[in-house]
Amino acid sequence: MEIRLILGDQLNKNHTWFTELNNEVCYVMFEMRQETDYVKHHIQKVVAFFAAMRNFARQLEEDAHNVLYYTIDDPNNTHDLQKNIEKVIKLFGAKSFAYQLPDEYRLDEQLKKITANLKIPTKAVDTDHFLTTRKELAEFYNGKKSLVMEFFYRYMRKKHQYLMVDNQPEGGSWNYDKFNRNTWKGGTIPPPYQPDATLAKEIYPQVIAAGITTIGTFNENEFLFATTRNESLKQLDYFCDHLLQDFGTYQDAMHQDETNLFHARISFSLNVKLIDPTEVIERAIAAYRKSEAHINLSQIEGFVRQILGWREYIRGLYWKEMPQYKQKNELNNFGKLPAFYWTGNTKMNCLKTSIKNSLDHAYAHHIQRLMITGNFALLLQTHPDEVDDWYLGIYADAVEWVQLPNTRGMSQYADGGILATKPYVSSGSYVNKMSNYCKDCVYDKKQRVGENACPFNSLYWNFLDDKRAELKGNNRMGMMYNLLGKINPEDLAQIKERAYQIMENPDAF
Ligand SMILES: Cc1cc2nc3c(=O)[nH]c(=O)nc-3n(C[C@H](O)[C@H](O)[C@H](O)COP(=O)(O)OP(=O)(O)OC[C@H]3O[C@@H](n4cnc5c(N)ncnc54)[C@H](O)[C@@H]3O)c2cc1C
Ligand code: SF4
Repeated sequence: MEIRLILGDQLNKNHTWFTELNNEVCYVMFEMRQETDYVKHHIQKVVAFFAAMRNFARQLEEDAHNVLYYTIDDPNNTHDLQKNIEKVIKLFGAKSFAYQLPDEYRLDEQLKKITANLKIPTKAVDTDHFLTTRKELAEFYNGKKSLVMEFFYRYMRKKHQYLMVDNQPEGGSWNYDKFNRNTWKGGTIPPPYQPDATLAKEIYPQVIAAGITTIGTFNENEFLFATTRNESLKQLDYFCDHLLQDFGTYQDAMHQDETNLFHARISFSLNVKLIDPTEVIERAIAAYRKSEAHINLSQIEGFVRQILGWREYIRGLYWKEMPQYKQKNELNNFGKLPAFYWTGNTKMNCLKTSIKNSLDHAYAHHIQRLMITGNFALLLQTHPDEVDDWYLGIYADAVEWVQLPNTRGMSQYADGGILATKPYVSSGSYVNKMSNYCKDCVYDKKQRVGENACPFNSLYWNFLDDKRAELKGNNRMGMMYNLLGKINPEDLAQIKERAYQIMENPDAF
C-alpha cells in the first residue's frame, strides 16, 4: 500500500494521481489543530477549508478511490502532521509514502524533515496547478536588475499565447491598466454568486465545539466561498457572464455599499486548487470571444493580467525570496496594529467599512486591502509581522505563498522595493478620489491638522518625513518629496505633532 497525503489546499481533481484507480493506494487527509492554530484565522476560512476538504474526500470516495479522513473531532486525529503520517503508515503497513509539493515554505520544510526520517521510500510530486514551476520566475529574472512584474507578464503572454496575434499583443498594447481606474458612481451590480452553504453550516458548530479560536462572523446566507469544483466552476461562469464586462473598468474602485463590485470572488477556489488558472483564463477568454462587444479587450486583459501575471509572479517571487523574505523590515517599522483591526471600531469610515467587511465576509477586494487597511498600517509604521498575521488570518484566500509577498512586499514595502517600485501610501485625497467613503466620515479629507482632520493626511506627510533615509534613493518618490519640501517648517511641525498623537493611540480615532 502507498499512502498519499493531500493537504487542505491541494484539492486538484485533475491531478495525475487520480487518472487511474489503484487499490494499492490510500489517500489521507487531516483537519489538524496544527493548521487551525498557527495564526488566528477567520471562522469562515476554517469552515471553508474543512468543507472543501470534506467535499473533495467524498468525491474521491464516490470515484472508488481509497480515502482515510480525520475530521477535527476524530479521536484518532493527533492534530500533528508528523504523528498522523506515522500513524497511518503503521495502520496500513504502508510500503511507500508520497505527497504533493506544498506551496507554503513552512509545510515544505516540515514534510522534508518528516520524510527524511521515514523508513520507507518517499516521493514528492508536483501539484499540477500552476502555469510556472517554483523556479521559473527566478530563472527569468536571473541577471536582470529589476523584477518589475510587467516583463514577466509579457513573457507569460508569449509563452502561453493568450491574447496574442502573430506573437504581438492583441489590440497593440500589452496592458490596458489606464482604463482600469474608474470610480463607481452607483448603479446596478449583479449580486454575487451564492454557492451552496449546507455543508459549511454543518461544520460551523463543529469548529466552535473543537474550541478553535477564530475571528469574524459566520452567517450561512452570506457565505460566498464555493467548496466543490462544480460550485467553483459555476461561480467562475457567473463572473464571466455577468461581471467580467465591467471588471477592468472598476477594478480599483471602492464603494460604501458594495462589498464585491465586479470582482470574481474566485481566489479561495483557486488557492485550494478546486479550479486551476488555465481553465480560469481560458473560460474568461472564451466568454470575451463569444461576447458581441459587451466585454471589451481592456476588461479581459485586466483579468488575464491578474491570473497569468500577478498570481504566478507572486508565487515565483515567494519561492525566489524565501525564507529571508519573511524577516524583511527594510523601512524599520516597529509599531503595533491598532485593536480596531479586529473589531472595526473606529471613526474613520474607510477603515471601518473595509474592516467590518473583512470581519463579516473573510473577504475584501484588492484595493481595500492595499489602499485602506494596508496603507493605514504602513502610515502608522506598523511592524510587518503584525500586518502579516492579520492578513494571513482574516481572508479565506490567505495562504502564505500569496499573502506574504502581497502584504510584506506590495503593501508594506518591507522588502525595500523587490516587488513594488515605491510604497503604496496615500493621503485622504486618493481615498476620496477612488471611493465615496469620505462623504460619510466624521473627518475632513482636506484638513491636515486639527481635531477633524483626516488622520491619513498628517500620517502621510509624517511618513515621508520619517522615512527620508530609507526612501531617499528612490527616484519614483521624487515628486512626493518635492511636495513635502514645499510645506513650511512650522506647518510640518504641527502635522508631525498630529501624526504622533495618532500613532500613539490610533484606537482613539
Ligand atoms: C495586502 C494584500 C494581501 C493580499 N492577500 C492575498 C491572499 O492572501 N490571497 C490571495 O489570493 N490574494 C491576496 N491578495 C491579492 C488580491 O487582493 C486577492 O487575490 C483578491 O482580492 C481576491 O478576490 P477576487 O477573487 O474577487 O479577485 P479579483 O479582483 O476578481 O481578481 C481575480 C483573481 O486574480 C488573482 N489576483 C489578483 N491580484 C492578485 C495579486 N496581487 N496576487 C495574487 N493573485 C492575484 C486572484 O487569484 C483573484 O482571484 C492580497 C492583496 C493585498 C494588497
Ligand atoms: S476622511 Fe480620511 S478617514 Fe475619513 S473616509 Fe476619508 S480618508 Fe478615510
